[in-house]
Amino acid sequence: MKVGDVELYPVTDAWGELGELGALYPEVPAEAWEPYRELYPELFAETRGRLPCTCYLIRSSGRTVLVDTGVGPPGLWDWTAEREGGLLSGLAELGVEPSDVDAVFLTHVHIDHVGWNADAHGVPVFPNARYLLHPDGLMWALSARADAPYVQRCLRSVTKRRLVDDVEAGTEIVPGLPMVDLPGHLPGHLGLRLGDEAVLIADAAVHPALLDQPGWLYVSDYDPETCAATRRSVLPELIDQDVLVVCGHYPHGGIGRVVRRNGRVIWEASSPV
Ligand SMILES: [Zn+2]
Repeated sequence: MKVGDVELYPVTDAWGELGELGALYPEVPAEAWEPYRELYPELFAETRGRLPCTCYLIRSSGRTVLVDTGVGPPGLWDWTAEREGGLLSGLAELGVEPSDVDAVFLTHVHIDHVGWNADAHGVPVFPNARYLLHPDGLMWALSARADAPYVQRCLRSVTKRRLVDDVEAGTEIVPGLPMVDLPGHLPGHLGLRLGDEAVLIADAAVHPALLDQPGWLYVSDYDPETCAATRRSVLPELIDQDVLVVCGHYPHGGIGRVVRRNGRVIWEASSPV
């Protein structure tokens, strides 16, 4: 879809079950999920949370940029996968070969965002791309997760070839598209603003229920209190505003709007895919 002068396309790499809701959100009683089951049925499998992992292709100013690289080749991530490995075929459907990608912006270094950085042999998948990553995220991965196979395959493969560029809040992936600070989910976690028209929030609110319940603590948030504070601080810029809110873990491609309806803050898909 067109967002101002920018082309923005969701490319879903994978769907799967992340785990029991009671383990993912330990402080949230089961019955508290009921309204959100009705709003977002795609994100539930009985007592378990379902998760799409969607990347975004951006074309602007003659540049082709990929935001995040999904879960990667099937079998890399130890989750209950339903469907994996969709990124490259999804890009091909948009007429994009891996060699066409000029830059890969990694919002953060969790396994479901860096999977296709390199193939199963550790060879970078996007041969002409610079990999854009906040140094705090890279440092966290190379220290706290140094022995994780995905860090070796997806991150060391690009660092040792010197394909990584440091970025931070304010860095523009193309003119008019600056990265934005959304702290808490992981060190160096960044979002992206597409002019005045859209904001990609990455994993600042990993489930759309968190837009209505910003204080709910999610077990994979590195600093849950800071993440909750981030949600509270950005929500006024999102609710009932003329801005698309983009998250790769929301259904229907993850491009939508945040609105207040019947006393709840909800996310509505703008272009179902
Ligand atoms: Zn994620």
